[in-house]
Amino acid sequence: MPELPEVETIRCSLLENIGAVIKDIEFRRTDIIKVQDYKPALLLGQHIRDIRRRGKYLILDLEPGYTLVVHLGMSGRFYMQDEDAQISAPHVHMIIYLDNGYKLIYMDARRFGGVRFMTDPEKIFCHMGPEPLSEEFTDSYLREVCRNRKAAIKTLLLNQNLIAGIGNIYADEALFAARIRPGRPAGSLRPAEIKRLRQAVVKVLQASIAQRGTTFRDFRDGYNKSGEFQQLLQVYGKTDCCCNICGQTLKKDIIGGRSTHYCEHCQK
Ligand SMILES: [Zn+2]
Repeated sequence: MPELPEVETIRCSLLENIGAVIKDIEFRRTDIIKVQDYKPALLLGQHIRDIRRRGKYLILDLEPGYTLVVHLGMSGRFYMQDEDAQISAPHVHMIIYLDNGYKLIYMDARRFGGVRFMTDPEKIFCHMGPEPLSEEFTDSYLREVCRNRKAAIKTLLLNQNLIAGIGNIYADEALFAARIRPGRPAGSLRPAEIKRLRQAVVKVLQASIAQRGTTFRDFRDGYNKSGEFQQLLQVYGKTDCCCNICGQTLKKDIIGGRSTHYCEHCQK
C-alpha cells in the first residue's frame, strides 16, 4: 500500500503539471468516486493550482472551492503519460486530459482506493494527526500519544488520527531502526526510547523518499516507474530472513491484525 514516501514521490513527479488546464475527464468506472460535492465536469477549464499531500492522500487544488483528492488504497497508481500514448494497462478508471500535452491516469486493480471531488478536503484532514516530517511531530507529542496507552506501539504508529501517513512498511522499519519491539505497550516506552523512535520514523521516511519509495508489488511513481527503497528494507515482509545486524531469523507475528516482522534479539 502506498504510504507517505510513496505518495510524496508521486506528488513530486507530478509537480510539472501545476498550471495546466483540465481539458477533459474520462471515467471508465464511476464507483471509484467516493465523494462528489460537485459534478466532475465543473473542473473542465480549471487550472491545477497546486499538488499537495496530507498523510497518504494526494490533493489537486483547482479553483477556490474545488479540490480533487486521490487515495491509492492497496494497489492504486496515479501517473502522467503523453497525451497521445496508448493506454494498454488494465484497471484504468479515470483519465484527466490536460492542455500541456499530458494526461493523468488513475488505475487501481483492487479498488480499495478512490477519488473525491471535494469543496473542502479539511473534512477528512481535520481528524488526522500531525505530519511526521513536520515540526509538529516532536518528542513531547509522541510522549503524549504513548502516555498510559496499553495498545501496542505499532498499532499507535498505524493510527492516522495520531500520526499521518505511516503504514505497515514504515512502522516495521522504524521500530527495527529504534530497536523497539512492535508489540510493546506504548505506555511502557521510556523517554529515551520515544526519542529514538521519533528519530527513526523521520529517518526511515526520509530515506525512502530519497529512494523514490518502496515498490513491493504495485507502487509506481508519477512516471509509472518503480521505487528503490525495497532494496534497503530491513524487516518488512522478510519472512524466514535473517536480521542484518545479529544474523538471527526474524520473527513474524500478527499485531493489531497486521503481519509484523521484527528481530527478537535486537528489538526489546
Ligand atoms: Zn537482530
